[in-house]
Amino acid sequence: MSRVALDTLINRSIRNMGAIDSRVRDMMIEVIRRAYSEGINVQISSGLRTNDEQNRLYAKGRTASGNIVTNARAGQSVHNYGLAVDYFLTNRTGDTAVWTVNDQWKRVAAIAKSMGFTWGGDWTSFPDASHLEYTKGLTWKDLQAGRRPAFDQVSEVKKTWLEFGDEGAGVEAMQELLNRHGYDLVIDGIFGPKTERALRSFQYQNGLVVDGVYGVNSKAALEG
Ligand SMILES: [Zn+2]
Repeated sequence: MSRVALDTLINRSIRNMGAIDSRVRDMMIEVIRRAYSEGINVQISSGLRTNDEQNRLYAKGRTASGNIVTNARAGQSVHNYGLAVDYFLTNRTGDTAVWTVNDQWKRVAAIAKSMGFTWGGDWTSFPDASHLEYTKGLTWKDLQAGRRPAFDQVSEVKKTWLEFGDEGAGVEAMQELLNRHGYDLVIDGIFGPKTERALRSFQYQNGLVVDGVYGVNSKAALEG
């Protein structure tokens, strides 16, 4: 069996991160890419958590069955602000999760830390080896008060997909492909609302994740 494709790890991670801060998402994709080049398969299991989701987690082991999994109520987790992700490793073929905090696991943390992330594995009171957050020292209370971290290292991150607001030749090529599939877009190289609607419609009709993001899966389907 061959090694899981980088794109597969990235696409699964994009799906699991949800509507996270796009800069955090871009940086995490770069983490996955760098780890992959070192022979490490890493995948994101979660990203944005809504307040409802957080309250459901908080209830576990308290008013709901199961073990206690968090001490954070809605608004008290960095996940609620789209600035945190959880990760795990996979086996070579990418179909089994590996939860051993080994050298590879710590290497992923080191790559993320070099990009400005804080690793939960470094925490002394409640270590959380899956957890990475981009807070630059801000606490959930700071975030709740409306403060946000500076994103000063993001420029070094390569983006591998197109999304709303993007412009250029790549968007033009996508618009041409969409038109070949029956859409009627102006080929202007601007990823605006009409282009996004067309892409979402195409994704829906082709059984893809309907996120309006033009990544490898959408590209392959459009070109196919
Ligand atoms: Zn976490």
